Amino acid sequence: MIYLDTSATTSMYPEILYIIKQYSVDDYYNPSALYTKALNVAKDIKVAKRKILDILHGNGNIIFTASGTESDNMAMFGSKKFKNCKVLVSSVEHSAIYACAKKLEASGIQVEFVACDAYGIVDIDDFKAKMSSNVALVSIMHACNETGGVNDIEQLVKIAKSVSPKVVFHSDGVQAVGKMPINLSKLGVDLYTFSAHKFHGMKGVGGLFVKKGVNINPIILGGGQENGLRSATENVSGIISTAVALEKTCKLLDIEKNKKIIQFIADNLATFIPDLIVNTNFECSLSNILSFALKNTRGEVLVHMLEDKGIIIGTGSACSSSKAHSRIPTALGIQREYFDGMIRISIDNCTTFEQAEIFVKEFKSCYEYLSSVIFNKCY
Ligand code: PLP
Repeated sequence: MIYLDTSATTSMYPEILYIIKQYSVDDYYNPSALYTKALNVAKDIKVAKRKILDILHGNGNIIFTASGTESDNMAMFGSKKFKNCKVLVSSVEHSAIYACAKKLEASGIQVEFVACDAYGIVDIDDFKAKMSSNVALVSIMHACNETGGVNDIEQLVKIAKSVSPKVVFHSDGVQAVGKMPINLSKLGVDLYTFSAHKFHGMKGVGGLFVKKGVNINPIILGGGQENGLRSATENVSGIISTAVALEKTCKLLDIEKNKKIIQFIADNLATFIPDLIVNTNFECSLSNILSFALKNTRGEVLVHMLEDKGIIIGTGSACSSSKAHSRIPTALGIQREYFDGMIRISIDNCTTFEQAEIFVKEFKSCYEYLSSVIFNKCY
């Protein structure tokens, strides 16, 4: 099987199974308990936190959660708001942010959506125009899950803080962590989200980095774990394995190899798809994502045809003509005839050139077959 959908999820490193056994069967103690065995587990969590902070160069704390989605919710709802404040988010945020923004809007908070270019990168002029001294929260994703476009978060933070000194700047780094070097101190963000299953950790483990000195409110109440910021008995093996997975993924990350594979695929697709639109800008994008769109074609059909040949690819979030699914292609300025034909190829350190060659060959045969059947008409 050739797996080219690593932005959706990745396979868990097998060695994590041993960590699960250790903290679920052997050292299964509740880290909040007072006996030595439990205190040792609490210490192991602390070490894992420290390791993640070191890898991401963060000066602050990490609150572990059950997903990237929960971390995004915590940033959106837990960050402090004030009277007559405004919230800014980009127009291509993942639904984990977008749905929260809509909820804040429904509760009476003014929310504005910052425009993006065709590659999912925030329009700096529109951002400057929308930034004002009453902005309490900005949430702009580090890398776009649809296109791979990487935002210049450092510059955006500087602009935001110069206009609204009280602003809390959150960035959703779910797609960026493990795919590019991250230096949270340099970025200057107050809050930053990550999710372990995107870098070969366990599903159901996320984290929210909180910069030193930044205060947020909890959104889950209970026993007061995580310094009262996220109650619930800790997912010990999830937390400890996240540090292990992140360290390994960052060590294995080969940006140059990824770039070559993605460029090879893009160049080859262009040779046989006349109306191809490429939504990834190789100058400012993650090295592992290629997003493209086909005219009057349903990407979903190609996904299934390729699956029959043992190749897994992703569609963009469009892949359905319903209004809810047209948010992203509309924000990217994609023409209507391309909405259903958005396809996302995402690779990682496990992907080889041979796999890329097989993908191109099989994609060509599927695409040409479809084109011959439908005479390039929507089916
Ligand atoms: N944010 C982005 C940018 C994502 O790509 C995803 C998942 O695809 C999420 C948030 C949600 O993360 P999780 O699956 O851990 O809830």
